[in-house]
Amino acid sequence: MNGFSYIPDDDEIKREKNKARELRASQWWKRKCAKGICYYCNNSFPAKELTMDHIVPIARGGKSTKNNVAPCCKTCNTEKKSKLLMEWKPISKSNKTE
Ligand SMILES: [Zn+2]
Repeated sequence: MNGFSYIPDDDEIKREKNKARELRASQWWKRKCAKGICYYCNNSFPAKELTMDHIVPIARGGKSTKNNVAPCCKTCNTEKKSKLLMEWKPISKSNKTE
């Protein structure tokens, strides 16, 4: 057993997703996105292109708290999916192929 083997049930996932929706509507979140920096790759993006990502994914037992959500770009969000940070490294500016 380790701390990351926890699988939340459907109700918990639903609850955390609802909380995420509330957080996304908050001034706190808007201020974070206004900076326009992706939490993972550190590139800058227009605020509207940043999405909310759970650093520890809900599906892996993460919560919708201010400590566990970060603005991230679509690329990082797609790449990361439900991985944990220890399982995934963002594409940094220097070796981005695009
Ligand atoms: Zn990114």
